[in-house]
Amino acid sequence: MNAEDFTPEDLAKAQRPTPTQSPAQLQDHAQQASSSVGQVINPLKEIANSGENTKTDGNYWPIEDLPSKFLLYPEGTKIYARPLKVLEVKMLSSLTNDNFHYVITEVLKKAVDGIDVENLLVADKLYIIFWLRANTYKNSGYTVDFDCTLCETSSKYEFEINNLDIIDIKDDYQKDKTVVLPINKDSLTTRQLFIRDENTVKNFLNRNKRSLQNYDEDILILANLVDTINGKSISLMEKYNYLINLEPIDYGKIESYINHYDMGISPLMNVECKNCGGTAPVAVGFHPEFFVPKAGLE
Ligand SMILES: [Zn+2]
Repeated sequence: MNAEDFTPEDLAKAQRPTPTQSPAQLQDHAQQASSSVGQVINPLKEIANSGENTKTDGNYWPIEDLPSKFLLYPEGTKIYARPLKVLEVKMLSSLTNDNFHYVITEVLKKAVDGIDVENLLVADKLYIIFWLRANTYKNSGYTVDFDCTLCETSSKYEFEINNLDIIDIKDDYQKDKTVVLPINKDSLTTRQLFIRDENTVKNFLNRNKRSLQNYDEDILILANLVDTINGKSISLMEKYNYLINLEPIDYGKIESYINHYDMGISPLMNVECKNCGGTAPVAVGFHPEFFVPKAGLE
């Protein structure tokens, strides 16, 4: 098994679409990844075969808090989840960069109730994964290597879910609020992505594989986050062409507006150094032991 850590860039990609592969390819990767790991069972296959709806064990608890504070779901939405089961833990421990989106979504489909997982906000997705982990292994943190940037000493720290820096929805965020561009004076609205939107950019790139135009992925991702321009909904390609023809000042305004209203889990968290007592930033990462603590299943 690759004992690789997920870097802040990977986490950011997990929160935004990674427009590199089709879902079918991801599934292939996921199956290859897990079959090269688990020679005895293939957890992905077993989960796929274990029936569509297994949510009958009554062990679901309400999730009380989310980065979105439930403000962007239909009124009265309650989201429930249950502790992870062995096959799901095994599936998560086979996470790779390639299967990340597929594995996380499949596990959420099994362990979350009250909402169709496709209608979950991408911003809430990783929070729920950490919630699942915390409620599967209560009182079991995990130890992470920590290189203090202040005193340059290597040590370890105990990861706690409470250490995560949750970026909540901003109080003044409104779905239909418009941003007016400084140069061309157009007014735009932006949107938050749902899990169902995560493949939009990937699918676009697949469909346009043979096109002579080379699409810039970062700009495509930004285009996907623009909802309307002067009140009109237009296609992803039209939004892309709109963005690349903007004055850089207008483009920068959209980019900083979207970043300002970003929510989710900060890719960095602050850790207190036992050596110097200072506080230094550390990347929030997953590695296999995160889901299967060395102490074993409790
Ligand atoms: Zn230190």
